[in-house]
Amino acid sequence: MDCEHQSKLSKAEKKAWRKQVKARHTLLRHEGIEAVSYATQSLVIANGGLGNSVGRSRLLPVLEACGVVDALLMPPNKPYSFVRYRTTDESKKAYANLNGKEIEDDLGQKIVLYLNFVEKAQWKQLGLQTFPSGLTVIENIVSPDVEQFLLESINWTEDADNQNFQKSLKHRRVKHFGYEFHYENNNVDKDKPLPGGLPDICDDILDSWLKEGFINYKPDQLTVNQYEPGHGIPAHVDTHSAFEDEIISLSLGSEIVMDFKHPDGATVPVLLPRRSLLVMRGEARYLWAHGITPRKFDTVQASQGHKGGIIISDTGDLTLHKRGVRVSFTFRKVRKTPCNCSYHLACDSQTEPGPTFPESEGAASQLEQDYVHRVYEEIARHFSSTRHSPWPHIAEFLRTLPAGSIVADIGCGNGKYLGINKELFMVGCDRSSSLVDICRERQFQAFVCDALAIPIRSGSCDACISIAVIHHLATTERRVAALQELLRLLRPGGKALIYVWAMEQEYNQKKSKYLREHRTSPGAKEETSECVSVQELPVGQMANVGEGRSAHSDPLDNDLRQDGGLARDIPHPKLPVHTNRTSFHSQDLLVPWHLKGNSAKNPAGPLGSAGPVLHRFYHVFREGELENVCRALHGATVLRSYYDQGNWCVILEKI
Ligand code: MN
Ligand code: ZN
Repeated sequence: MDCEHQSKLSKAEKKAWRKQVKARHTLLRHEGIEAVSYATQSLVIANGGLGNSVGRSRLLPVLEACGVVDALLMPPNKPYSFVRYRTTDESKKAYANLNGKEIEDDLGQKIVLYLNFVEKAQWKQLGLQTFPSGLTVIENIVSPDVEQFLLESINWTEDADNQNFQKSLKHRRVKHFGYEFHYENNNVDKDKPLPGGLPDICDDILDSWLKEGFINYKPDQLTVNQYEPGHGIPAHVDTHSAFEDEIISLSLGSEIVMDFKHPDGATVPVLLPRRSLLVMRGEARYLWAHGITPRKFDTVQASQGHKGGIIISDTGDLTLHKRGVRVSFTFRKVRKTPCNCSYHLACDSQTEPGPTFPESEGAASQLEQDYVHRVYEEIARHFSSTRHSPWPHIAEFLRTLPAGSIVADIGCGNGKYLGINKELFMVGCDRSSSLVDICRERQFQAFVCDALAIPIRSGSCDACISIAVIHHLATTERRVAALQELLRLLRPGGKALIYVWAMEQEYNQKKSKYLREHRTSPGAKEETSECVSVQELPVGQMANVGEGRSAHSDPLDNDLRQDGGLARDIPHPKLPVHTNRTSFHSQDLLVPWHLKGNSAKNPAGPLGSAGPVLHRFYHVFREGELENVCRALHGATVLRSYYDQGNWCVILEKI
């Protein structure tokens, strides 16, 4: 669009044009989609995508009003799509008529389309999608009559004989038969079967499946879940020690997409049609986590006619399917002997000797050595590659310091805050020499030291920052000592900003605007934003090992905890291993880091590139804890205390 043309535009047209240019830049920056300035047959339609709740049937007629559509490509979970017209004249017409056009999405909300010409449809690949090994979906396993009968057999309103455990949870309704499931330890009481066993109808059905060879064992435990549209279940692996290999789930009432997640982050969406049986064995049962994303629409293949199985992302015929009420009958066989699967990392029966809660100063120091310093040394490059966006509040703190201030960043990592404000004299230090090397490569001043003994003269700094450092110290005394050491560096009136991980995470809330804006594609293996908060750690990890660590199974557990049903965990001598992207169940714990493997060695795809899992020690802070510790320090006042995206934060001033 030339300037002359532009000057003839109305105010509204100018606004649309500006937004269109903005859309073009966003697509290039975040998605690598290159728009061209000349007319082609193909257009990228910003905001007109499945990820924006715009279905194929809604978008296509709008596009067809401008000409004959050759192809409409709608990548899964993306807020844009691609259209190819038969001729350039038609695509030009769409470009002229549809830019800035308001349409309604599938939720009835208004959205505005912005179009740009492209040479070809292109988007970041979600990675090779392979059906998880050991997973089967058997369609039409029961007749509509049997479905009806089963649905009617579940009495959700009352439980007269009170035999079966029933609970109405925030996210879905659930009922147990055969054995009661205990959410506090994610296991069943194996010595106390519920009277009545499984419903008779289920008994008959299971016998027939056994005879026909669909299943190898007869289950003795049944969980019935009812999911309303918008409900879901967080990704989890069913506890190995609780149930045998084979886990089956019958979908009734409505189809749904279940996501399978490999520990390395690969996600495979699988459509479970109505009246189908999902069978999980081996790798699919023991290693892959499964879950249902809470949403009202699923992305499905338009041409497949709701056929079960993997949702292929690149066929260009994806659309949205509105969810209905789904009831699942999940059958499992209670395990009587320890699990001896070959997925040791994910197995709660096969415990390795792990670190324990430190009971002495020496033990604490050794724990930090093995589970903080050594780990950062090993993951430094990969860690650094995931940290490039400075956090706004931290950048703000640095930007508002007077020019010429001397500032120390204690635990500076890859130095991403060292260059924020060029008017400051900033020096960084870190315990990891590999991270300090990265700072130096970036031309920053940094040196190696321990946060408990910083070789900087007392009272010499105008300000200090300590971002995601104090939570790596293993005892209260050491955490206080590190804060006191930080304070020692400050001149009177000097300020320190401290960030630590919060026990209180916001999993049930939408990500903050900041995170959403900085997200890469949902299938990406690493988030690009800073990972000070656990919310941003790679998805789909389940490296929970060791007895006593929440051998997590059904994440209903979280519901109970959030409802205040459980008190704080009793300190266990062994440190629990956290499951990333779930709530913390202990204040002192190990957090897994999945080191990215060398994918060049394994061109086979994401599954071949799984690297080793390393554990970092963390003490996550409860609300008020950091503030209280800071108030007890000698010679400081707390200026501000706040919560920032999964972190507790304090600004101190030296008196
Ligand atoms: Mn499950
Ligand atoms: Zn196992």
